[in-house]
Amino acid sequence: MYNKQMHEVIVVGGGVIGCSIAYELAKKGQRVILLERGRIGQEATQAAAGMLGAQSEMEDVGPLFQWSRISRSLFPRLSEELKEVTGIDMGLNREGLLHIALNDEQRHELIRRERLHSSVRARAEWLSAKEAAQLEPQLGEDLLGALYLPDDGQVDAPLLGQALAKAASIRGVELREYMQVLGLLTEGEKVLGVMTSDGPIYGNQVIVAAGTWSSQLLSGIGVELPMYPVKGECFSVLERSPRLRKTLFTHGCYIVPKAGGRLVVGATMVPGSYDRKVTVAGLAQLMERAAGLVPSIAEAEWEKAWTGLRPQTADGLPYIGAIPGIEGLYAATGHYRNGILLSPITGRVMADLVSGGSGAEIFSSDEQAAQKETILGGSGGRDGAESRHGSTGDRAEAESRHEGSEDRAVMESRHGGTGERVGAGSGHEWSGDQAGTEATMEVWKAFCPSRRLVTDQLLGEKRHSEKELITIEIAH
Ligand SMILES: Cc1cc2nc3c(=O)[nH]c(=O)nc-3n(C[C@H](O)[C@H](O)[C@H](O)COP(=O)(O)OP(=O)(O)OC[C@H]3O[C@@H](n4cnc5c(N)ncnc54)[C@H](O)[C@@H]3O)c2cc1C
Repeated sequence: MYNKQMHEVIVVGGGVIGCSIAYELAKKGQRVILLERGRIGQEATQAAAGMLGAQSEMEDVGPLFQWSRISRSLFPRLSEELKEVTGIDMGLNREGLLHIALNDEQRHELIRRERLHSSVRARAEWLSAKEAAQLEPQLGEDLLGALYLPDDGQVDAPLLGQALAKAASIRGVELREYMQVLGLLTEGEKVLGVMTSDGPIYGNQVIVAAGTWSSQLLSGIGVELPMYPVKGECFSVLERSPRLRKTLFTHGCYIVPKAGGRLVVGATMVPGSYDRKVTVAGLAQLMERAAGLVPSIAEAEWEKAWTGLRPQTADGLPYIGAIPGIEGLYAATGHYRNGILLSPITGRVMADLVSGGSGAEIFSSDEQAAQKETILGGSGGRDGAESRHGSTGDRAEAESRHEGSEDRAVMESRHGGTGERVGAGSGHEWSGDQAGTEATMEVWKAFCPSRRLVTDQLLGEKRHSEKELITIEIAH
């Protein structure tokens, strides 16, 4: 029987979301235990292709688009931080993504998105088929063009999961593998802890981050957060040189280049299936589509195939926040296709909420300054100092001038005929996400006026008086 020690926070689920929350909580000095029924990171997290598709995954520029961009911008700093703490390199790749149009309908849609993204100063550039082929010579001939998204990077998802878990452990989180949570313990309107395969564990706060299985746990105490799995199959191959550098993404297929010439090809979508088998039909479909994008993939060496279950919600929106009516109980689940991308921001928001922070710390000015230094290769030092003393209108203007000049440089490079965009692969490519503390706050205020949790985090209003579950608009 496991001892009945009291913990400040119990996190249920050792996927990328649970690990990110545990890590962020530990950084705040909270005493945390994380319970995983199997091995850490072995469900959806290990299956993910690792794309940080803040732009490629979104059809509009609503709340989730802004949320995703902010989360994406946290990766360079997080990557450095986790490498320093754990020695694990999450393989952050910032070569960008080509969203490929294979028919007229897709072409119109991507041209629409280019305008949409530009309207909110997210970098996006429509390329003709010839221009796209200049960027990635291995592309086949079937494409009509591509939307180039230089800021949509990618990471090695299993390594990210491992790094977060290890960093959490180093920071004092107790990680318990092979410990299944059988039910939630409540008394009246308060959570007391969880019942596990090893007996009860008590805690002041419980966060359910159990991926697609979260709804089963919650329904045990009458909380209905309807969810279902969406099975995805992927495979990987080892390519010969010349190697692909950018992620290729199109309807029903993507190819994500990893370290060492590995290409991850995904992914099928089978809603409602808990079945974990890799099917011949699924792989055949992916192989055909991948060879259409990059014909030379047919010559690549086979590595392996796998499946994973994306945690999808009934209304397509993730559940992130406090469960109304049960004190101390929270959910962070339903990230569907974007859990890797959204893991940093989910970890921060949840840690802030659970530890009763002011919300403003989620994106502290120090963080902004550090991020800027990381992303701009040290040139953010002066701006960082300014941001610590509060952003000024002048600074925002200066930043806007900086971004404008960068955009011009992109265009100049394009018309200079080098075939390469300025910023691609350079330290500047993620600067489109850098808006400074004040501007970031504005984004938060603007994108969630009706979603009280996020707004309250920032404005310090009604935080704990009204328990509210955030749902974030997700576009697929
Ligand atoms: C094929 C595929 C490709 C993907 N590609 C991308 C991508 O490119 N980019 C991106 O951002 N996202 C991607 N995703 C989505 C991403 O993987 C998920 O959104 C993310 O991993 C969800 O993380 P999670 O921690 O919520 O869930 P999981 O990783 O599934 O973790 C949940 C954990 O909870 C544990 N658990 C469940 N029930 C219990 C219990 N009762 N007691 C104890 N533990 C329990 C499970 O064992 C599991 O380890 C992809 C997903 C798939 C399947």
